[in-house]
Amino acid sequence: MSSSDEDYVADSDDDAGANQPSAKHGTRSSGPVKASGDAGGRKRAAWEDIQRSWDTIVEGADGSINSAVEGLREAGKRKRLLKDTTPLQRGIIRHLILIIDLSFAMVEKDLRPTRYLLTIRYASEFVTEYFEQNPISQLGIIGMRDGIAVRISDMSGNPTEHIEKLKGLREQQGQGNPSLQNALEMSRAALFHAPSHGTREILIIYGALLSSDPGDIHETIQSLITDRIRVSVVGLAAQVAICAELCKSTNAGDEGNYSVALNEQHFRELVMAITTPPVTRTKKQSQSSLLMMGFPSRTLGSGKTMSFCACHSKLSRGGYLCSRCNSKVCSLPAECPACGLTLILSTHLARSYHHLFPLKNWIEVPWSVAWSENSKACFSCLSKFPEIPKDVGADGEPRRKPGEHKGTSESSRYACEVCGNHFCIDCDVFAHEVAHNCPGCQGDTRAGEKDGIVRDGARGDGDVVMVG
Ligand SMILES: [Zn+2]
Ligand SMILES: [Zn+2]
Ligand SMILES: [Zn+2]
Ligand SMILES: [Zn+2]
Repeated sequence: MSSSDEDYVADSDDDAGANQPSAKHGTRSSGPVKASGDAGGRKRAAWEDIQRSWDTIVEGADGSINSAVEGLREAGKRKRLLKDTTPLQRGIIRHLILIIDLSFAMVEKDLRPTRYLLTIRYASEFVTEYFEQNPISQLGIIGMRDGIAVRISDMSGNPTEHIEKLKGLREQQGQGNPSLQNALEMSRAALFHAPSHGTREILIIYGALLSSDPGDIHETIQSLITDRIRVSVVGLAAQVAICAELCKSTNAGDEGNYSVALNEQHFRELVMAITTPPVTRTKKQSQSSLLMMGFPSRTLGSGKTMSFCACHSKLSRGGYLCSRCNSKVCSLPAECPACGLTLILSTHLARSYHHLFPLKNWIEVPWSVAWSENSKACFSCLSKFPEIPKDVGADGEPRRKPGEHKGTSESSRYACEVCGNHFCIDCDVFAHEVAHNCPGCQGDTRAGEKDGIVRDGARGDGDVVMVG
């Protein structure tokens, strides 16, 4: 709060036309300005230094910008990939409440088409991705409007239910004030029955800069801490002190869970980042417990009469029979409506597995290495790499292409450090985001025979099914 007050004073000094260096005050981005080094007058504010995408483009030798655009695209793909791959203990059975701001603040059009519509679109994408990454988890959605919290969908493991409910919101509009406290209390009640082996999380998409609460929100924060609920907030307008405090105190002092979206793309990245299971921090959270699960087999029911499913009472032929009580459910994962057993497929467990042992980032290959290994095509998809330039030798200092981007490979080759094979950027993206396995390592049987170890058994569990 105090920092924004200082900002205001600094700006009003400038407006007075005195044009003297403001000694004590700086903008939020630059921090406090040092009095001595600013002889040239007013310091430029962050918003004055606009980065235009066309400023960084350099024309290629043929006068076109194809190579530069290609480089930018590659840099974008690569940036998405480079993440921390340290194996950490994560809670893969998650219970998350998504709180969406449906207040007057969402009518703003600073995010296209409006904050409201964009948030609903990203929320639907989030739901799909969340269940893709965490198939044995639960999700519920709550909205904030007219000063109260409204239940949009109940805690369940079925993505289509949530997406249907979100679709229904499209016809409405944001109205009234949001109430953080009401929404948090409702989420707390919904997460109350979450079993101790799972995580309890809240994700808030917050467009407003205020919260109209009936009581003391600090008491609510205290009870969230007692209930081991972690809160993440994605802001759409500006930082709000109470959100920062909320995230910090419910995440053991970690401030990384609160961020404000800069633009549409950044907004999406922030929301999608939450689909990765959270790191287990405390001893208490990492206590192991046994969990009963059923692995039902599919019944096609062809030639038989139709029967009702236990979950929706709808007539259908096929379905899955509960391994304990033989009730029929139509989709997995689900909780058996009759006996309460968690029913999943083994592939669902395998899908969560890659979060615990992420595939290492591949490294960029310099021209000299590409020359010494004489790699011509991608190991995985066999598409041709760019030709190795003639003037590159074993010790040849590589020429940097104009418009080269940081993090991308100058030779468009990326190498797996384990098997040493070279891949193209598209295979890099596919291996890290879809397959979660290295095609080179999986295809390499020699290493296993030599060391006498079987490589993590990932081939047998259905995790490497190639699609597309
Ligand atoms: Zn059903
Ligand atoms: Zn059952
Ligand atoms: Zn490839
Ligand atoms: Zn490999």
